[in-house]
Amino acid sequence: MADETKSKCACPRCRMRGLMGPLMLITIGAIFLLGRFTSVGFEELWPVILVVAGVVLLLQSSASRAGHTGS
Ligand SMILES: [Zn+2]
Repeated sequence: MADETKSKCACPRCRMRGLMGPLMLITIGAIFLLGRFTSVGFEELWPVILVVAGVVLLLQSSASRAGHTGS
């Protein structure tokens, strides 16, 4: 189990990076839920994972490093 709390930097970019993991899990979970309750399945929706990952990476790269305390 990776403990993300050890990195104390709270700059926008680092916070965005910490968001990636949970967001991926939420996205994948939501896709499976949709597949369960609707006729739209994982096979149709898996590209959403790429879109979400891309958006997060984009936000991350454009996020400010103001107040960054790491290396
Ligand atoms: Zn930082």
